[in-house]
Amino acid sequence: MEQVPWYEWNIYCAQMLHAKTGRRKGVYMKVTIDRKQCVSCGSCWDSCPELFVQNEKDSFSQIVPEYQENGDPAKSTEIPDTTSCARDAADLCPATIITIVE
Ligand code: SF4
Repeated sequence: MEQVPWYEWNIYCAQMLHAKTGRRKGVYMKVTIDRKQCVSCGSCWDSCPELFVQNEKDSFSQIVPEYQENGDPAKSTEIPDTTSCARDAADLCPATIITIVE
């Protein structure tokens, strides 16, 4: 049996919640990284590897490829708000360059 990636389950659950409640706010969020200010400390990809990864070329943090908006490593597409580790990563970032918009 093929294993379903965690993010597909999160998207499915968020869609079901949206369909049931009709509410969208608080279900999805977008994450941005001001990559020019990144100091490559690793806190974000350690605390939230589902969403952040170290870029192999410049060593700065980036959004994981499956969540990048139009291939932009600094911006995520709409992701389920259940990805709570994104908030942990934003709180832990010493440069305070991770922004979450609901
Ligand atoms: S926590 Fe902040 S400074 Fe550290 S790697 Fe991630 S984005 Fe860069």
